[in-house]
Amino acid sequence: MMSAQQQAYLKAMGIDVWVERDPVALVEDSSRIEPEQPVSVEPAATETVAQVIPEAGPVRNIEALNWPEFQSAVAECQLCDLAANRTKVVVGAGNQSASLMILGDAPTRQDEQQGMPFSGEAGNLLTAMIKAMGYQRNEVYISNLVKCRTAENQEPATDEVEACKAYITRQIQLVQPKVILVLGSVTAQRFLKSKSTMARLRGQLHYIDELAVPVIVTYEPGYLLRSPSEKRKAWEDLQLAMKELSTVNISLK
Ligand code: SF4
Repeated sequence: MMSAQQQAYLKAMGIDVWVERDPVALVEDSSRIEPEQPVSVEPAATETVAQVIPEAGPVRNIEALNWPEFQSAVAECQLCDLAANRTKVVVGAGNQSASLMILGDAPTRQDEQQGMPFSGEAGNLLTAMIKAMGYQRNEVYISNLVKCRTAENQEPATDEVEACKAYITRQIQLVQPKVILVLGSVTAQRFLKSKSTMARLRGQLHYIDELAVPVIVTYEPGYLLRSPSEKRKAWEDLQLAMKELSTVNISLK
């Protein structure tokens, strides 16, 4: 059953949830969370785990890297044209042993300045989505298919995603998530190597050969800000992820 706090965060996402409420709990919750207030990113001490690394040193074998080696390797990477525009790489943020890993396409200029993925208004909505699932933002791990921003915040090119693929593969191996949530149709198509539409990609579990992790696709928060009517579908996707996570947790007990 959804907690009152999750319902408040759903409200922050812009989704009304019609369920019977305990009137006592409703009063208590309204004093703790003001649903009409925008949910902001909380830069807690544990939120961003040394994800922006100064550039230096030689390139190493990606498949065998531990976390510090991985972060250094990404920081010094010159494997695609995106290296020319960046001032910093944005490796990822959050719990490096998270059950839930969330993937977008590329860091924005603002993400680069902030040193974390999904730092702006879209990031605030992503935080609300995460909280609606029952997590704090620093309990999940968030990253992108490519670690360097594109020139005009456009989607990364196929060859850029391919150049960065070894990093995201190793990153997933290091985090060992139980579920991967992929944001946006282009990100999903490139990650899953699919040409299917969003309508076909949503609502099911996907698996890719090299990773034994279920992948769930939903809308990118920036798109949801422009198309709020799709938030209800996004919530269905988040519920699918929650169901899969709860199934995995039960099987591990
Ligand atoms: Fe290297 Fe990835 Fe940055 Fe390209 S986007 S330079 S492959 S880290």
